[in-house]
Amino acid sequence: MMKRNRTGASKQKKVKFSMGSFLAFYTRFPIPWWLYILSALLGVVYTELLMRTAAFTIRINKGELYNSVIIGYALLTVLNAALSMLQNVLSAYGSEKITLRARKLLWNKILHMPLREVERRQPSALISGVVNDVAEASSVITMLSLTVSSVYGFGRSCLELYRFNATLTCYILLLIPLNLLLFYVVGRIQHRSMRLRFESLNTMTEFFSEHISAAKHVKAHAMEDREVEEGLRAINERYKADIYYGIMSQVQVLFNSTCSNLGTVVTALFGSDMIRRGRMPDTGINDFSTYLTNVERYKAELLTHYQTLTGTQGAMRYVGVLMNGPQEVLDSGYDLPETRETADIVLDHVSFGYDPEFPVLHDLSVTIPHGKITAIIGNNGSGKSTLLKLLQGLYPPDSGRILLGEADIASVKPEQLRAKFGYILQNNPLLSGSIRDNITYGMKGEVPQEAVAAAARLADADEFINALPQGYDTDIGEGGKLLSGGQRQRLAIARTLMRNPDYLLMDEAGASLDHKSDTTIFRNVRESLKGRTIVVVAHDMRSVVDADYIIVLNHGDLEAAGAHEQLLANSPTYRGYLEKQGYDVGEGAQV
Ligand code: ADP
Repeated sequence: MMKRNRTGASKQKKVKFSMGSFLAFYTRFPIPWWLYILSALLGVVYTELLMRTAAFTIRINKGELYNSVIIGYALLTVLNAALSMLQNVLSAYGSEKITLRARKLLWNKILHMPLREVERRQPSALISGVVNDVAEASSVITMLSLTVSSVYGFGRSCLELYRFNATLTCYILLLIPLNLLLFYVVGRIQHRSMRLRFESLNTMTEFFSEHISAAKHVKAHAMEDREVEEGLRAINERYKADIYYGIMSQVQVLFNSTCSNLGTVVTALFGSDMIRRGRMPDTGINDFSTYLTNVERYKAELLTHYQTLTGTQGAMRYVGVLMNGPQEVLDSGYDLPETRETADIVLDHVSFGYDPEFPVLHDLSVTIPHGKITAIIGNNGSGKSTLLKLLQGLYPPDSGRILLGEADIASVKPEQLRAKFGYILQNNPLLSGSIRDNITYGMKGEVPQEAVAAAARLADADEFINALPQGYDTDIGEGGKLLSGGQRQRLAIARTLMRNPDYLLMDEAGASLDHKSDTTIFRNVRESLKGRTIVVVAHDMRSVVDADYIIVLNHGDLEAAGAHEQLLANSPTYRGYLEKQGYDVGEGAQV
């Protein structure tokens, strides 16, 4: 199994994700601050009550076992527990709201990422980002509100400590540099542990989602045993990350308790000296320790919050990188003319590569005439499908321009451009839902049944749909898995024709259809879209020889373009294709 990172490429550089850009994530959606402010205020009240409880504890320790002291102590303890519960409920509610909003934001971002970005990443990595990673987002805000009360509590308990014994408190201050070092080290460990845990979780999600969806092929190739081994590697990565996390958590606890114990040692060391010199009563160390326990407790809280911050930064790294990535603004740019008349599509020195260092299309200059049928042919990998994607602005060319009439498609509104195009591939994704839902996908508002049926008729799909017990209401299952390949393809064609596009791009659209359906659909398409521009990528020369204009690509270069007779004369690739499919291409041949 190739080892991939979350960006889907094995040799890709790690993208930086600083604390600044991590925190900037929280400015992108509304935070229910009121819940957190309320929770923080409760925290402050809680701290005040805790201080009072400490005073009661000291009195009880001194043997003041009066009813009023014991009842006061008990009441304060119960009240504190109730306040703490309320504080937790408020912040839990706020957390869920944040998760909801952050998840929606990320989903929106994924949908608006440029296609090239989406394809660079594994779909399952994106799924994992939106399902797992983003759920961590809320912990930082919860932490922030808790930090308010912890800072308050820390300051307050330090003050109490100082008031109780200023000299001993000053000795304790000697430990500050050590505490700062503790925060730094524990924070780094937490960041790394959480990053590893989430990366390995996502590796597992990627692996299992890809390989479980391919269960049919695994069985057909009897690869179960190999797959178990491969799966173990993904599982193992998570196992190692969990072990690291488990050990490092204990290391963190050790660091923290060592620091607290040092506080106790300093108290005992200097406190006993002060008692000996008569500068503190005999119970002084005990009383001082009671106040010091509060200081340590709030310090531990602050450390936990800091761990949450650095840990969440590690866990949310992938989400952050996605959020900081490029985004398409569908309604930005110039308006296209409102006319439904089609225009020539002009490619002017267009070059493009998925990786710009390895261009797939080289300096293409050719015009696709409007209102005609243009066929694109070429060997596998010569760039035909890529060209169709460029025409709709799904990828921007690396250099050169594509013009729709006068308009450079790079500067028009992507949503308007794409609305003009219909695009049918060899295998088209369908979504779970009814047949009607799928045919009307992309249509705005209610679509009358007659219109749906008309689109289905054009796509030669009405007969099989009507034969189903529930007709257009039939549920087609996830990805249309309850239908045959040919039925799925006809639904996809109906869906595209339903939108009545001005430019229709067909990429091997008939490859999964039987000959009758293929011919019927193509005839229907020609009739119903008369006067529109149709571009077909096909290997079957029957659909090519009838085209008005033919473009021959050869390894991403334009070999020739023209009508059938011209290509017979000047394109060896074209003649070769015809020959292979049994056409006579001899001198003066009429195909
Ligand atoms: P054709 O349609 O002529 O068979 P394509 O346009 O599909 O060719 O592919 C042209 C080249 O681009 C091939 O080398 C292919 O490997 C590469 N390619 C196609 N799609 C992608 C993609 N999404 N990411 C990276 N490379 C791709």
